[in-house]
Amino acid sequence: MPDSTIPDSPLPGLYIVATPIGNLGDIGVRAAATLASADLIAAEDTRVTAKLLAHLGLRVPMTPYHDHSDERTRAALVARMASEVVVLVSDAGTPLISDPGYKLVRDARAAGRHITTLPGPCAAIAAITLSGLPSDRFLFAGFLPNKAKARADTIAEFAGLRASLVFYESGPRLAAALAALAEGLGNREAAVAREITKLYEECVTGPLADLAARYEQAPPKGEIVIVVGPPGEAAAEEADDAMLDAALRDAMADKPVAQAAKAVAKRFGRDRHAIYARALALKGQA
Ligand code: SAM
Repeated sequence: MPDSTIPDSPLPGLYIVATPIGNLGDIGVRAAATLASADLIAAEDTRVTAKLLAHLGLRVPMTPYHDHSDERTRAALVARMASEVVVLVSDAGTPLISDPGYKLVRDARAAGRHITTLPGPCAAIAAITLSGLPSDRFLFAGFLPNKAKARADTIAEFAGLRASLVFYESGPRLAAALAALAEGLGNREAAVAREITKLYEECVTGPLADLAARYEQAPPKGEIVIVVGPPGEAAAEEADDAMLDAALRDAMADKPVAQAAKAVAKRFGRDRHAIYARALALKGQA
């Protein structure tokens, strides 16, 4: 059951507060109350958060906290959490989700500080709900690497997963990312969700290759999430087999065939005899 209580004077500690990803109306009641009662807001970019505070009619001290903040900055924030309400926000959405905050939470936890989260907007979750693709199992993969080889290697790691995949992307990189996904995963169903909660929100769905062709013609503006549907059963099995063969080749590089097969069978939870036969076949091809 939801509990609507907001204490008048919150305990000292760290408050992780999600903020809107576009529409300022999406700020939660409890998030606004917590920002109002903060002694200090640690913000990814204080200029961005200043706009949110102005919208809420609040004036609260802020300090920058971002990916490049050093150990000393973190230690000072953790020290203040002992006696003050310190709120962590990023520019938009949920802190720590492709945004700064992980090390601050880690250190606050190590120091035994009170830590709580005020959940709210997150582009990944918003996109999966918009996409019409299976939402029972999904993997949030953040941003793909920029370089083609690293991007292809990352995509290959996900190929056998029986889950939808969620990526953050930018307009100029979108067509290349969709083409690389089609190449590495097959022409799966996908969705491109853009400018969620903003004036020009849209969600375009279709096979990856069609989406790649569409956005190659006209690179879109704004913020983007790609959702890719799970593989069909045959494709998932093919990807599993490819992973298995790669593991066998690796293992056979420094072990006799029988030992390699035993280790790989254990790792993948497969029948040892079947894997041994597969290993022999691979060795014969080599
Ligand atoms: N922490 C944020 C969250 O909870 O979603 C994400 C921060 S990450 C640095 C920014 C990326 O999130 C953008 O490049 C885009 O891929 C995605 N994003 C943020 N806002 C969005 C929006 N309104 N519509 C679509 N994608 C968005």
